[in-house]
Amino acid sequence: MISDEERKRYHRQILMLGEAGQEKLKTARVLIAGAGGLGTVISTYLAAAGVGTLRIADCDVVEATNFNRQILHWIGDLGRRKTASVAEKLAALNPLILVEEITGKIDETNIDSIAGTCDIIVDAMDNFPTRYLLNRTALKRGIPFIHGAVRGLCGQATTVLPGKTPCLRCIFPGAPPPELFPIIGATCGVIGSVEATEAIKAITGLGEPLAGRLFIWDGLALCADSLAVERNPSCPDCGIRSKSDQ
Ligand SMILES: [Zn+2]
Repeated sequence: MISDEERKRYHRQILMLGEAGQEKLKTARVLIAGAGGLGTVISTYLAAAGVGTLRIADCDVVEATNFNRQILHWIGDLGRRKTASVAEKLAALNPLILVEEITGKIDETNIDSIAGTCDIIVDAMDNFPTRYLLNRTALKRGIPFIHGAVRGLCGQATTVLPGKTPCLRCIFPGAPPPELFPIIGATCGVIGSVEATEAIKAITGLGEPLAGRLFIWDGLALCADSLAVERNPSCPDCGIRSKSDQ
């Protein structure tokens, strides 16, 4: 049930979602993997929207080089765990939701417990090996995986629906070489907002998901596009499922 306090706080979105949609947000559990440039944007909007449980996973502490883009980490947070910094800000923004902190590096040994009973996994990582792990976990559990990545003034996003759409590995078979990439903070705002939008849509059933399409953002030319993407029947991560579906 939606309380009077919630009815007031979410009034402008209940106009669109209805109280039933708001209840879906309230009961949703979302894993946000990463509390950096993307994760701080995604978690801000999902907290503001009233997603009932946000589980934030990150292994880093706040550094001065984060401030150009990681909008929930402030000067007083230097040296703090990013998960603690984010949890504090989100609690101040919306005390009606639950924020769970998972501090540590995501790997093969802990991903199952980190994903827990989450309904959706949102990618706010900065590397493809961990993204592939999140992708495989979502495929195994049959839950949506919302991918986003940024570099400079450019970014991309897609929503993986297991068994229905290409997975991340179908679209990007190999990881790009690791690098210290340049990034303008506003790019994280664009792509993080796209990912938060997709999460809200996946929870409430609103609109058409960014499924089977790769959203491409080019802030240099200031243009956006979405490209059709296809499943790879021999994809190492979803190919077996692909055969069993036929
Ligand atoms: Zn695949």
